[in-house]
Amino acid sequence: MNFAKGSLGWIEVVCGPMFSGKSEELIRRLRRAEIARQRVQIFKPVIDQRYSDNHIVSHSELRIRSESVKDASEVAAKVDLRTEVVGIDEAQFLGEPLLEAATKLANLGKRVIVAGLDTDFLGRPFEPMPRLLAMAEEITKLLAICVRCGNPAVHTQRLFASEDLIVVGAEGMYEARCRRCFDAQLALQKPAEGETVPTGDDNRRPAARPTASATVADKAAAQTAGEPGKS
Ligand SMILES: [Zn+2]
Repeated sequence: MNFAKGSLGWIEVVCGPMFSGKSEELIRRLRRAEIARQRVQIFKPVIDQRYSDNHIVSHSELRIRSESVKDASEVAAKVDLRTEVVGIDEAQFLGEPLLEAATKLANLGKRVIVAGLDTDFLGRPFEPMPRLLAMAEEITKLLAICVRCGNPAVHTQRLFASEDLIVVGAEGMYEARCRRCFDAQLALQKPAEGETVPTGDDNRRPAARPTASATVADKAAAQTAGEPGKS
């Protein structure tokens, strides 16, 4: 977007699966704005505290300071009138009010850059991102590389069984997969008989053990499946 002049605001969206470099791209754009001495404010949802609570950190360890918000209405409330560029990471966690907040900020003349997952762990459109894409001036869809076959990956594969829409995690819990290798059922399957996934143990956090063992089991299966191809 380099055709906009004066105080015209707009919305840019950077979307794609996990491990596609969305945060890196968001940080790159925000850094360029800071270098040009534009006033920049950056937000991320409270839910995502994986690396830092006052920075956005990419998987490649790029970082930029940020403010944590619990929802999108808090973004709109926290933006200073003089701010020129507003960055928002992990926007899929901010809910429907994101549409109104981004529109309001753009209408006030601000450049709004939003990064987030456009599909969920079952490959479904992840609201509010799809509607935000419809309203944005510019869209960048990034792809990752499928860890199984090396083709362009559009999906975020959950490697453990959980039907919760939001389970924050990183390497080991999710991986990028192409449309052929993506398996939505993997996240919905109950552990098979014989797998060492105990239940009903009150001393353990319910999600922790199934997560770990499903991940290990899947990695083992992936390695086994991959072996014939190597020879
Ligand atoms: Zn693949």
